[in-house]
Amino acid sequence: MNANLDSLKPGTVLNNDEVCKYFKCSPQGGMRRSLTTNTLVIICNHVKSIYEDKWIGNELHYTGMGQTGDQSLSSQNKTLAESNENGVKVHLFEVFTDTEYLYQGLIKLNGSPYQNQQLDKDQNTRKVWVFPLILLSDRSNNVVSKDTFEKIHLEKIKKAKKKSVASLLTEANLIPKEKVGYRNTQTKAYIRSAVVSELAKRLAKGVCQLCEKPAPFFDQKNQPYLETHHIEWLSQGGPDTKENTVALCPNCHKKMHIVNCSKDRKKLSQKVLTLLKDIG
Ligand SMILES: [Zn+2]
Ligand SMILES: [Zn+2]
Repeated sequence: MNANLDSLKPGTVLNNDEVCKYFKCSPQGGMRRSLTTNTLVIICNHVKSIYEDKWIGNELHYTGMGQTGDQSLSSQNKTLAESNENGVKVHLFEVFTDTEYLYQGLIKLNGSPYQNQQLDKDQNTRKVWVFPLILLSDRSNNVVSKDTFEKIHLEKIKKAKKKSVASLLTEANLIPKEKVGYRNTQTKAYIRSAVVSELAKRLAKGVCQLCEKPAPFFDQKNQPYLETHHIEWLSQGGPDTKENTVALCPNCHKKMHIVNCSKDRKKLSQKVLTLLKDIG
């Protein structure tokens, strides 16, 4: 393998061995200093890390080293804190899927490190150092797909579900009031036919086709509020046709996206066929 650092392009996915070959760094840790390549490799692991690393747009608020007790500005934390003066190049990887290291490129300290409180490995409150870092490479690489974003969030929910109310409360109390994190995401938007959607609503005549109750409210134009839904989801290859499109109340619409049981799908398919037959 040609492990020349200059040839490594942001967006490349490496395994751990390859990260070590490129950077001549240790195979372990979230901050890996390499004297040979004069780099500091930062790994932001969204799957395993206990740290609350947070993106605020293009700025990553990265928690330093030290899994238990108060963190100090020593060792790799010191290297990172002084990285604008010490000549060490800082590179960022993100992990969204175990063992896949996505190279995000060069990153730079974008302001002074600051302290806040987070839980450590043993669930004790402690002080950590947070480093505001900004990507120097093409910004578009920082855009993650909506699916990836949701996947990380689901992982976090899974972890949160295992915690007691008391520890949820402790952790909730540590969340800073300022600086809400956000990430630019990319989604695939399906181009749906307005005609098909309007036809489904007209045929429904203000009544939800699943629960068969009138729309729960009227919109600002005094029209019964229903939402159109594709029985076979567009995201799963379903067609944007009149036979596949129904009008539902918001409750039933949500139900179809959360539960999507075959009995309901069958009912909707039959209903839409009957309505279409009726209008000839
Ligand atoms: Zn309904
Ligand atoms: Zn839908």
